[in-house]
Amino acid sequence: MRKVYFDHSATTPVDPAVAEEMMKYLTEHFGNPSSIHAFGREARKAVEKARQQVATAIGASSVGEIAFTGTGTEADNMAIRGVAYANRHKGNHIITSAVEHSAVLNCCKQLEREGFSVTVLPPDQYGRVTAQQVADAITDKTILITIMHANNEIGTIMPIKEISEVARERKIIFHTDAVQSVGKIPVNVDELGVDLLTLSGHKIYGPKGVGAMYIRKGTFWHPIMFGGGQERRRRPGTENVAGIVGLGKAVELATQRMHADAERLSKYRDRIISKVLEKIPHTILTGHPKERLPNHVSFCFRFIEGESMLLMLDMKGIAISSGSACTSGSLEPSHVLTAIGLSKEVAHGSLRLTMGKDNTEEDVEYFLETLPPIIERLRAMSPLSEGCNPCACSTCTVHEEDHHHDHGEIEEEF
Ligand code: PLP
Repeated sequence: MRKVYFDHSATTPVDPAVAEEMMKYLTEHFGNPSSIHAFGREARKAVEKARQQVATAIGASSVGEIAFTGTGTEADNMAIRGVAYANRHKGNHIITSAVEHSAVLNCCKQLEREGFSVTVLPPDQYGRVTAQQVADAITDKTILITIMHANNEIGTIMPIKEISEVARERKIIFHTDAVQSVGKIPVNVDELGVDLLTLSGHKIYGPKGVGAMYIRKGTFWHPIMFGGGQERRRRPGTENVAGIVGLGKAVELATQRMHADAERLSKYRDRIISKVLEKIPHTILTGHPKERLPNHVSFCFRFIEGESMLLMLDMKGIAISSGSACTSGSLEPSHVLTAIGLSKEVAHGSLRLTMGKDNTEEDVEYFLETLPPIIERLRAMSPLSEGCNPCACSTCTVHEEDHHHDHGEIEEEF
């Protein structure tokens, strides 16, 4: 059976060239970078080379602005909590958006429990917040704005440059979670105008369990972990040398490949979007139609339960994900999909397909052949679609809000 991996936003395989670099630092050059003998110096050299690779990839002006972390989640926590604690004397207000990754949202929730006040901006139907919304939310107590660059579930790209202009004008520190955008679209800290930025290795063909935080020189920030002097005391603990080497190599390769990948994958993306909307009635494209990651496709299918769709596609060898992932026994729909205004029922029928460098046109065609009969079968079995005769009118393939033209009877089903 054909195997198609379409879940690159969840994780990516380690590039063989990355693995090869890493291997040397797991075996031969195993030294502790803090040791001053030759073994240690070899490891130190590798860590510093990786720091340069990350700095170059994101346009940091000095390697001192990069700190390696355990994961993207840890980098988000370090950035957000580090700024919050360091600037508490100035104020306690933080601005974020309702579509952030849980690494940001739950970090902000914890800060709220600790006495900070958090404004969570609602996005538009495409998952974007505007610079104006951010400007309107600023108070004289605002110390941090944290808005993601690209959304992991719906692929929408945020207007980071416009938001950072507002932040800069009001002298407020600005962080962006760029875990999903690095290596896929241009990420340059000066062009984006951010003070802190976070990224992760395993989304860009690097290893899992390594990330990095960019912190612009002069940004007022405190460490949140305490121990040895590693990473300039920003992230104490013996460095994951092989992981860091892998992240450095991965980010370098991802940037080199980015334009060619984006050109090819965005064609696949657009073909999948147009074909699925054409072939499958009662389908909603989620995320922005244009301002979205080149490798990212996401839909909600009415009268479908996402988990069943995922499992049926899996049986056909296709790996995708659904925003309605059943976490710890509760079937709560994705906070991102509900934030963009979809009902729980609709959000439960979500599909996210994220392509990667090794996907081919054949993979795309195989998916386009395989999906419609699965949807048809599930709808035929679904109590949700009972009494509904899905029509194939074009209006049914656009966004929710424009969706209720002659479907009063269907709406009543819910
Ligand atoms: N931020 C975003 C937008 C993500 O998509 C992810 C991972 O899915 C993370 C943060 C967390 O990164 P990590 O898995 O390295 O902790």
